[in-house]
Amino acid sequence: MTTFLQQFFQCPACGAWMASIELTSYTVHESMLWSDGFQDHQAVYFMEPLFIKCPACSDIFCREDVHMVPAYDFQEDAVRVYERDEWRPPGIDSFEEGYREALVNFYAEALNSQACSNTERETWIRTRLWWTINDCIRAYPGRRQWSLRVFLTFLRRLVLPSPGQLEFARFSKVFKENLQRMKPLYAEREAGLLLAEIHREAGEFGEVSGLLKEWGTGPEKSFVRVVRRATRLRQKYVKLISG
Ligand SMILES: [Zn+2]
Repeated sequence: MTTFLQQFFQCPACGAWMASIELTSYTVHESMLWSDGFQDHQAVYFMEPLFIKCPACSDIFCREDVHMVPAYDFQEDAVRVYERDEWRPPGIDSFEEGYREALVNFYAEALNSQACSNTERETWIRTRLWWTINDCIRAYPGRRQWSLRVFLTFLRRLVLPSPGQLEFARFSKVFKENLQRMKPLYAEREAGLLLAEIHREAGEFGEVSGLLKEWGTGPEKSFVRVVRRATRLRQKYVKLISG
């Protein structure tokens, strides 16, 4: 059973009102897990972002710092209320041209804002920045079944980058900087598996096997197998674990 709850909140800088829809429970039907920890399922689209840029004054704030007002306490017609489409970062729809770039820029801006006030929040933003750039690769998944056409595509890819890799390359500077900063954040959290993945995507293959040494017999088995194999093949791009 899925239920929605409408709530309202205010920009802490200028007082503008925004409406949000909170998904209170859901069932995940299909889900794909990726080597960077990103889980791809439909419910993600209903989850509200933690950081918001006010559409009225452009201030970036964190939802943890604002008070949520339930619908039954709020007269919507009494004031101007910005709808979810108007305040949801990065301000344009996901199918629009330039969406990914706008989202990367939003996260970069959020990292420099006052709302990024502790390492928990910095980790949250940097992880989303990591996932957003890796989405370039996710948008062009590898094929599973071989045919002559697929084989020719494969041969071409040996010499030419895929459209996803070309798009990814545009973000390579901010991607590398982000990975470097994520290393201490994830080391602090003792998140060994994702730390290994951060090193692999940074091309530091020597570090990976040491970090994965203790792992691989529990439920994380397929994750460890995929990351080890990619490390052996000197592959840096994000990998699909299951789905
Ligand atoms: Zn504002």
